[in-house]
Amino acid sequence: MSFFQMNIIWNGSENVLSRKGILSIFILLSLALFLYLLTSSIAPHNGNDDEETVLFLGNEKIAPIIYKENGVAKGLVVDIAKGLGDKTGYRVVVNAIDWNAAQEMVLSEEADALLQINPSPEREKLYDFSDELLESQFAIFVESGSNIKNLNDLKHKAVGVEKNGYPYYMLQEYDEINIVTIPDWETAFKMLQSDALDALVVDRWIGEYELARSKIKGIVIADEPIRTLYSRIAVKKGNNELLDLINKGLKEMNQDGTMANIIKAWHGQRVVYLTRSSIRNISLYIIIGFLLLILLISLYWVNRFRKLSKKLELEADEKTEKLSETNELLRQANAELEKISMIDGLTNISNRRCFDMFLDRAWKMSMREKLPLALIMIDIDRFKLYNDTYGHLAGDECLKRVAQVVKNTVKKSGDFVARFGGEEFVVLLHNTNEEDAAIVAATIRYKVEELDISHERLNSVVTVSLGVAARIPNKDMTLDSLISAADGALYHSKQGGRNRVTRASSIVRIL
Ligand code: GH3
Ligand code: MG
Ligand code: MG
Repeated sequence: MSFFQMNIIWNGSENVLSRKGILSIFILLSLALFLYLLTSSIAPHNGNDDEETVLFLGNEKIAPIIYKENGVAKGLVVDIAKGLGDKTGYRVVVNAIDWNAAQEMVLSEEADALLQINPSPEREKLYDFSDELLESQFAIFVESGSNIKNLNDLKHKAVGVEKNGYPYYMLQEYDEINIVTIPDWETAFKMLQSDALDALVVDRWIGEYELARSKIKGIVIADEPIRTLYSRIAVKKGNNELLDLINKGLKEMNQDGTMANIIKAWHGQRVVYLTRSSIRNISLYIIIGFLLLILLISLYWVNRFRKLSKKLELEADEKTEKLSETNELLRQANAELEKISMIDGLTNISNRRCFDMFLDRAWKMSMREKLPLALIMIDIDRFKLYNDTYGHLAGDECLKRVAQVVKNTVKKSGDFVARFGGEEFVVLLHNTNEEDAAIVAATIRYKVEELDISHERLNSVVTVSLGVAARIPNKDMTLDSLISAADGALYHSKQGGRNRVTRASSIVRIL
């Protein structure tokens, strides 16, 4: 049995609770995993609080050298700065921000140093520069097929540079170049594509990285780099203590191979669109997507099983309803059968079984009420001879007619008529004494005679003999005594010549 099937067997409210519980746990687990992965991937390194902190700033827009991802500074020089932290024992914090603001913050001593800056005469007035950091090859990027090949070709052309970046100052040496400051590299390359710019001057590595990242096609580097120089780390002019420390760290990193390893690691990413960090992010999204998929599948199945259980419930209800309908029909059929088993099939009056039941009840009731109960026993005279004369079917017909006469004569409520067996009938009269019952019996006798059913072998008509008895029952009396008294009276009528009524009380017993 599956987990969800088990759920269905539980009652409704538990079922809902358990489903909600499972979903909540699932969502919480997913969330916890998500937060764990997120924090583990983006949380900045926290060093020892006891260490002295050095705040490095860099240009947020020069990936892969330095850039911002999810609010955190990333890039080649960020790793170098961290390496410096390890070498110097300082706690290094690196922020990637707007390049202008970064330069101003170091001047106003809100930050300690600038990462990846190329010295220029203007800058040398404001900052002191470290030893060489990275080689920067400034190159001209143009649309493929462009005529621009070198610096001279840039005359009267719209050339994009980053505001306050090294090319910005370098190109100002040439009066005839139309310098355009660009908002970001992707926009700049798109401007180049749409001919809003004729050329872009940027560090070759940064430009290539951006082209790979943004998948912009049709841009090439014009010839050789127009200038190659080394970027540095800058501190505010006069901050010699920090500068010495940085230079010492850089030297150590160059000597022990740390620098080469960092550069190698980042060079590997240059041609790969998916950087290692983005691969990590993609893995994260795949995991979250997978969890969401499982969640959706679970919801789908929970929903499906819920519908299925509802359907089964409805079907069960329908079956129960049908069953109760069948039961009702059966009950009616039984009642009908019961009725039929109480009725004599030939004469359509009550049968012997019914008489026995009725007599028992009437006897007890009369005993309770202390009222007389009368019994008339009726027997058709010489009926065997009638059958022999007219045939059995005619005999049946005769039986029916006699039964109707008896039934029609006894109409008082509480009175009862039945076929006792063969050609014999009984009448029970409630609250009737023997005398009054004898009157009823006489009426029956008369009416049967009146039927005028010919009985030619007797030269007469069909007649009946009757015996009447009555009792006020008490607990010392038996019911059988009433029957045998009436039977005795009937016998007496037969003996007396038939077609007559005899009252049991009138029989003189000879001991
Ligand atoms: P008695 O006057 O002494 O009562 O003579 P009897 O012939 O009526 O009495 P007996 O007991 O000898 O015969 C009764 C006959 O009633 C025998 C039987 O053929 C006939 N009988 C009993 N039940 C039925 C019935 O359902 N249909 C028909 N046609 N005849 C029946
Ligand atoms: Mg008989
Ligand atoms: Mg008879």
